[in-house]
Amino acid sequence: MKTLATLEPLTARLLEIQRITSAASVLSWDQETYMPPKGGEARAEQIATLQGLAHERLVSPDLERELTQWIDPATGLIIETPGDAWDEPSRSLLREVWRDFSRAKKLPSAFVKRLSRECSLAQQIWAEARRKSDFGMFLPCLRTVVALKREEAGYLGYTASPYDALLDFYEPGSTAAALKPLFDQLKARLVPLLTRVMASSVKIDDSVLFKSYDTARQLEFGRLVLTAMGYDFARGRLDLSAHPFTTSFHPTDVRVTTRVYEKELPVCLFSCIHEGGHALYDQGLDPRHYGTPLGEPLSLGIHESQSRLWENCVGRSRPFWRFFYPLLQQTFPEQLGGVELEQFYAAINRAKPSLIRVEADELTYNLHIMLRFEIEQDLIEGRVQVEDLPVLWNQKMQDYLGIAPETDADGVLQDVHWSLGSFGYFPTYTLGNLYAVQFYDQARLEIPDLDAQIEAGQLIGLRRWLEQNIHRWGRMFTPDHLVQRVTGKRLSPEPFLAYLERKYGELYKL
Ligand code: ZN
Repeated sequence: MKTLATLEPLTARLLEIQRITSAASVLSWDQETYMPPKGGEARAEQIATLQGLAHERLVSPDLERELTQWIDPATGLIIETPGDAWDEPSRSLLREVWRDFSRAKKLPSAFVKRLSRECSLAQQIWAEARRKSDFGMFLPCLRTVVALKREEAGYLGYTASPYDALLDFYEPGSTAAALKPLFDQLKARLVPLLTRVMASSVKIDDSVLFKSYDTARQLEFGRLVLTAMGYDFARGRLDLSAHPFTTSFHPTDVRVTTRVYEKELPVCLFSCIHEGGHALYDQGLDPRHYGTPLGEPLSLGIHESQSRLWENCVGRSRPFWRFFYPLLQQTFPEQLGGVELEQFYAAINRAKPSLIRVEADELTYNLHIMLRFEIEQDLIEGRVQVEDLPVLWNQKMQDYLGIAPETDADGVLQDVHWSLGSFGYFPTYTLGNLYAVQFYDQARLEIPDLDAQIEAGQLIGLRRWLEQNIHRWGRMFTPDHLVQRVTGKRLSPEPFLAYLERKYGELYKL
């Protein structure tokens, strides 16, 4: 039996590449947290140099030689020797390294540099265009980025749609054709559910969340929840940034950021829980596999499932707040002392169509994603042109959410993703929401007293279950395989839809 030991010369090379990439991540983290404003230009060069170095090593002849000892480059299949089979971890490792290597190898390095230069320019112009709400200003560079992404899909190759080649980067194995029925089912049930919620006689007042809350205390409470979730501060830290994120340099150093507004209690609170979910995944990866795919998170969709599971299934549930609400009341006695748990629970779960994706509630969030998925797929497949986007955007907002933005800043210009060339990224948010509920339903089956544990403030049982079933496997299985292995079923929108219908049906007395 051939094991990971056989692959030691290969994994030693991968480890070096990972160390370069992790060093670049430290620089990026610093850029988003503590770097002085004028450091940006030099920092961008430093990061680009390290990333270039990592890319060079990945596609180097040395690594190719190492890899093609075990993999037939013509077919991409593992070479089998009769009587001396590979064990499962080795097979997975080879499959995933080949995936990364062949993908990187297909893109000419001049193209990669051009794409990265154009996107960095597009991002700067996008930021200004959004500030001025001027889509015309962004249009020429978006047109360039879309053309480059179509070119990229051509290099990577695809069968049904060029969009698949881009999507596969973020969610291995996913295709537009597989996503479409998921979104169709979501649309068919979420749009009417939202209509019923809006027509309900129950009107939820969430103004209590927008009183004045001391920011230092908000942060302290965020740290308390993170600690209860099992986030290890000896292997992490919490800082402030403009947009909350999680970054990992190694399972022993996984950092989260948040933002805090005095008059918006949910922002810091739920971003801490959300990023905490991401961070538990990264802290739960097996450090012995650091540097190889077996020590890496599986996909963006699976990553997002971990953050959404904690943020929504746990963090917006009654059992969670039965324990944590009295603590929150003690932290903010003036603001919350007279507010009942039920009133607070309703406030944090209020559903309402809104213009901005990142502020959307659980019910409307996927409608925001759906419209982006449809638009970007049409763009990459060449069915719509960049100049059509503002009109198309507003029309879909009206159709799905019943509202339309007055300005492009609140509409088509609101997200950074397209300026970065991240086409195919958005659907992973919805996949994350669907995986989250399917995993959580399974956790409740396997931990019968889970609600009671959570009500007692004991979140470690859930964290351990996630670690055992999801985190520690890295990229051992494909996303498809993992969800079947954990839940016994393929990914389905049904658990998610049933969860929302139950939750909002009760809350809004539908
Ligand atoms: Zn996230």
